[in-house]
Amino acid sequence: AKVARVPLIAGNWKLNLDHLQAIAFVQKLDWTLKDARHEYGISGSEVAVFPPFTDLRSVQNLVAADKLSIVFGGQDLSEHDSGAFTGEISGAFLKALDCTYVIIGHSERRTLHSETDEQLGRKVVAALKHGLVPVLCVGETAEDLEIHGPSAVPVAQLRAALAGVSGTPNLVVAYEPVWAIGSGQAATAEQAEQVAATLRATLAELLGEEVADATRILYGGSVKSTNIAGFMRQPNVDGALVGGASLDVTEFASIARFQ
Ligand code: PGA
Repeated sequence: AKVARVPLIAGNWKLNLDHLQAIAFVQKLDWTLKDARHEYGISGSEVAVFPPFTDLRSVQNLVAADKLSIVFGGQDLSEHDSGAFTGEISGAFLKALDCTYVIIGHSERRTLHSETDEQLGRKVVAALKHGLVPVLCVGETAEDLEIHGPSAVPVAQLRAALAGVSGTPNLVVAYEPVWAIGSGQAATAEQAEQVAATLRATLAELLGEEVADATRILYGGSVKSTNIAGFMRQPNVDGALVGGASLDVTEFASIARFQ
């Protein structure tokens, strides 16, 4: 049986939806989830959205005014707190907007913005320092998979990102095979479970059993309402990081009621 970890269904909007669209989206998502909760008696899962930075203030206001149970976070943060870093956003700024989470090391940041393991390690430290929960993304490319097998690269990325972390951090890890992101080719539930179990064992080694048991490990990469249940049945998979399918309210809400 699963240890009591609250499932997390997280929507990564990437570069989609401006602040007006975000308000309409979050309102509709809340209604849809409330209907679902009422009709199906679901669920203990936490639902999070990750809008672009320019939407966060609007989402914060809406969530606070209407007391929504949706939580939210940024898609990235700077490793720095302030200073001459044009275009950057600090962890303190995200915290001031009531962000719970921040995504760190998404494969698009690693690839398109050349973010290194060392830099991501500093971002994890910065997020924790400001009371944000990092959603640390790890995952192998198709080539990595062929050369090194399924777990080697995600485990190495996890070790590097946690190099500066000690104690009992509140942390989420997202296993997102690069070959599965936006491809329509999700990993199988068994593949996701195998890597998630290895990541959890690595967490136990690095930070102890208690942190390993408490940390939610998500699967991400072409998650849809039609494949979510299989992932959620795995003992080490505690939720999903959803890209494309998180942009459709009905689809995202049905992912969130995966039971
Ligand atoms: P996808 O993206 O669901 O569109 O595959 C997942 C992600 O990039 O987090």
